[in-house]
Amino acid sequence: MAQSNVKRDPRSFLRLEYDRLVSEDLDWRIRILASSSGPWTIVSGKKVLMLCSNNYLNLTNHPKVKRAALEAIEKFGAGSGSVRPIAGTMQAHVELEKALAKYKRTESSLVYSTGFAANAGLIPQLAGEGDLIISDELNHGSIIDGVRLSRAERTVYKHRDAEDLKRVLDEAELKSYKQILIVTDGVFSMDGDIAPADDIVKLAAQHGAMTYIDDAHGDGVLGEAGRGITSHFRIEGKVDVEMGTFSKAFGVVGGYIAGSADLVNYALNKSRTWLLSGSHPASVVASCKAAIDVVEHEPEHLKALWENTRYFKAGLGNLGFDAGASETPITPVIVGQSSTARKMSEMLFDENVFALPIVFPMVALDKARIRTIMNSGHSKADLDFALQAFGKTGKALGVI
Ligand code: PMP
Repeated sequence: MAQSNVKRDPRSFLRLEYDRLVSEDLDWRIRILASSSGPWTIVSGKKVLMLCSNNYLNLTNHPKVKRAALEAIEKFGAGSGSVRPIAGTMQAHVELEKALAKYKRTESSLVYSTGFAANAGLIPQLAGEGDLIISDELNHGSIIDGVRLSRAERTVYKHRDAEDLKRVLDEAELKSYKQILIVTDGVFSMDGDIAPADDIVKLAAQHGAMTYIDDAHGDGVLGEAGRGITSHFRIEGKVDVEMGTFSKAFGVVGGYIAGSADLVNYALNKSRTWLLSGSHPASVVASCKAAIDVVEHEPEHLKALWENTRYFKAGLGNLGFDAGASETPITPVIVGQSSTARKMSEMLFDENVFALPIVFPMVALDKARIRTIMNSGHSKADLDFALQAFGKTGKALGVI
């Protein structure tokens, strides 16, 4: 048998690559929670103010959301035993999908195991050979992976730039694509800014393109009763695929799409991540359904989230911090160099504040930041505590 001269070492490359990540300070050092994720949480052995969880409305701790899981386990058991299309669709799954469609004001909805699975499973099925996918340049990694799995041609437009999207669409008219899919985050997870979804749906309609909006950070946060980005812009029914997650404001886990019955029938027959992966235990879907009910009927959580957001952003501004162009509870505190952001996160942790740095390549080299996310369960005293810690560490590092 002919052999090449390449020396392969299937074991050592793991260690070599890991060592490289460590030497470049790019490795993840995992912090471990010893309590539920809440406004205050026990992390690495001490109680800290939580500023980096997506549990916006503190629903992970809501009694109704927790009780729903316990009751569902009693009735349906711990696991579902199958994938959805075979024997893994329980009454609880169908009830969630009905409740979700009603909440999102769409004809139908479909729940996936995660938001990542929804993006990775559905996007490549919506556009294939002879089609074009047009994506915001700062879309989430799960969208990027979904796009990579497609056989369609792909291109990006400048971040949140409807003019640039128009340019790309005009150019696309010169070719004869069968389908054009425009895909964007609703709220961008690094900066907390919002996609111009109203302009996007108008442009899409002019060009016969399909729209797909990932509302992971808009769900439960934007619009009337947290119904998300379509409610925020009053474009209900105009987005072809509203995709979202239960892992953030709803406080549980699970991805979904909402839209027409045709979309759902298509998606469930085509998405391999839905067809070939075990379905949620009933406890998960029952909690998700309870979370929707809480968001709809207890407006105090959403109100508190936005009050806290305004208070915290104003406090950061008064201290002299650059809090970016965020329009949502995701608030980046821009500090400059990666090393400063890393150091500041450690110093904040010493002050019992848990907030993580976001550094290059996730953001530009000189725009490293501490990304904070508000929680409806924080009191004003909690936020003052955080602001004091930010002031102290920011001054010590010469950021303010
Ligand atoms: N889209 C966006 C914009 C996200 O921020 C995330 C979560 N990081 C996802 C999709 C994936 O959602 P899930 O956690 O449900 O997999």
